Amino acid sequence: MSYSCPDCGSESIIDCHTGRNVGSVTGGVAGTASGIAGASSGASAGMAAGAFGGPVGIALGGLAGALLGGLAGGVTGTLAGAKIGEKLDQHVLDDLECDHCGHTFRSHN
Ligand SMILES: [Zn+2]
Repeated sequence: MSYSCPDCGSESIIDCHTGRNVGSVTGGVAGTASGIAGASSGASAGMAAGAFGGPVGIALGGLAGALLGGLAGGVTGTLAGAKIGEKLDQHVLDDLECDHCGHTFRSHN
């Protein structure tokens, strides 16, 4: 389906996923933060598992646990944020932008 700009009539319209972009970044940051907060438990679990391998195993296990916790949180947060942002794009924000004059508008009212 093609749209034309309600302001200048240009048919050079681009998608602007402001909500999705902002949402995935915000979600990613929040998710990573909560993942890192949860990473201490991942780290202690990793250290417990690594304890069988002696001091090196404890260090490696703790590091792996912390890394995995932060990574998992970041990915989960990014996905959740993108989903929320997509809903914002669809229901609240303008989701189309005129490439000619920069006017933003919604594809469906
Ligand atoms: Zn325009």
